[in-house]
Amino acid sequence: MKFSAINFTCPSCGAPQKFSPATGKLTCEFCSTQTSIEISEDTIYEYDFSEAVSTLTAQKIQSITKSVSCKKCAGSFTLTPYSFSSNCPYCGTPAIIDFIQEITPKSLIPFMLTHKKAQTLFKEWIGSLWFAPNAFKKYLDGDNRLTGYYLPYWTYDSDTTSPYRGLRGDVYYVMVTRSIVRNGRQQQVQVQEPRIKWTPVSGVVYVSFDDVTIGASKTISRTILDSLGPWNTEKLVPFSEEYLSGFEAEEYTIGLDNGFEFAKAKMSFKIEKNIRYDIGGDQQQIHSIQTQHKNVTYKNVLFPVWTASFKWNSKEYHYAINAQTGKIVGERPYSYMKIIFAVLAVMFMVGGFIYMDRDGFLHRSATNSTVIVNPY
Ligand SMILES: [Zn+2]
Ligand SMILES: [Zn+2]
Repeated sequence: MKFSAINFTCPSCGAPQKFSPATGKLTCEFCSTQTSIEISEDTIYEYDFSEAVSTLTAQKIQSITKSVSCKKCAGSFTLTPYSFSSNCPYCGTPAIIDFIQEITPKSLIPFMLTHKKAQTLFKEWIGSLWFAPNAFKKYLDGDNRLTGYYLPYWTYDSDTTSPYRGLRGDVYYVMVTRSIVRNGRQQQVQVQEPRIKWTPVSGVVYVSFDDVTIGASKTISRTILDSLGPWNTEKLVPFSEEYLSGFEAEEYTIGLDNGFEFAKAKMSFKIEKNIRYDIGGDQQQIHSIQTQHKNVTYKNVLFPVWTASFKWNSKEYHYAINAQTGKIVGERPYSYMKIIFAVLAVMFMVGGFIYMDRDGFLHRSATNSTVIVNPY
C-alpha cells in the first residue's frame, strides 16, 4: 500500500522540523528556528466501550507493507505494519502517514524527557546495578541507540459492583493445660492459645476506576510495558501530528476488547483488597466474586517511551524509559562471580565478628580486606 508522508518544514530554511521535548516546540535541526504548536482547545473525550466493541468490524491486524516515498530525497522505504511515524532511513526526514486501524488516538502525552537526559538517566541506572558484570556496564556506557517511541495504550474507566461470599476469621484465645518440665520435674501449667472463629459473610463492594492504562503494543514485552507506569493522564493533550515529528509511533496491536480483559485483571486486585477490608476481622477467605462493569469508557492514547534492546552473551535484553516521569525498566544480566564473592565476604565478616567477641576488641584480619575483590 502506498502512503504519502506528512512532514513539517522550517519557515526560514525549508529543512524538516522535529518535535523538541526540551521546548515543546517544532525545532529546525539546521538553523534552530522554533515553531510553536497550537494547543487545541478540544475536550479529550471518553468513548463508550460497549458501543465501540459492537460496531467494530472483526478486523485482524493486517500484515500490509506500507511503502512511503520521502518528500525530501524521494527515497522510497517501508514501515512496519503497525508503525505510522518514522524517519527516512536515507536522509532522516520525518515521515508521518495515515492510520490503518479503525480507532485512532485522540490524545497523547508529548515527550518531556530529551534524548540527552534519557541517556544520562540510563547511565546512572547502569551504574547503580548491583552484581552486573563490569564488561556489560562498559558495553552499555557507550550505547547511543535510544529510540523515541510513541506507544499505543488504552485507558479504561469502569464503575464496578462486586457481590461476594466468603469467611471472616476472628482470633480468640483459650486456656489450655500443658505439661512442661521445670527443674527436672514435670508440671501442669495453664497457657493461652489462639484459635480462629470462621463466620460466613457476604456483601457488595463498589469501586469506580478512572484511566486504568493498558499497553496496546506487542513491540515491547508486557512486563516492561506495564511496569513503565504510572502515567499522569492529566497531562494528555489533543492529538496533533506535530508531536510525532522525528519520533517513531505505533498503532495498537492489542484490540479494544482484549485490552479490557487486561484492565479487568488489573482492577480485580483493587476490588479484592476492598472486599478484604469490607469483611474485616483478623483473616479473610474469599470464595466468590461476581464483578459487573458499568459505564465502561475508553480512550486510545499515545505515551512517550525511550527504548533500546541489545545483545549480551547471545541473549537479548530490552530496556525502556518513561519519557514523562523518567522511570526506567529493564532486563539485566547478573555476574554470578560477583554474587559468590559478596556471599563469601559476608561470611568472613561474620567470622570476624565472632573472633572480636572472644577477644573483646576489633580484629581487622587480612582476610577481611582482601575478600572483596572485583572479579572483572
Ligand atoms: Zn531552518
Ligand atoms: Zn529522505
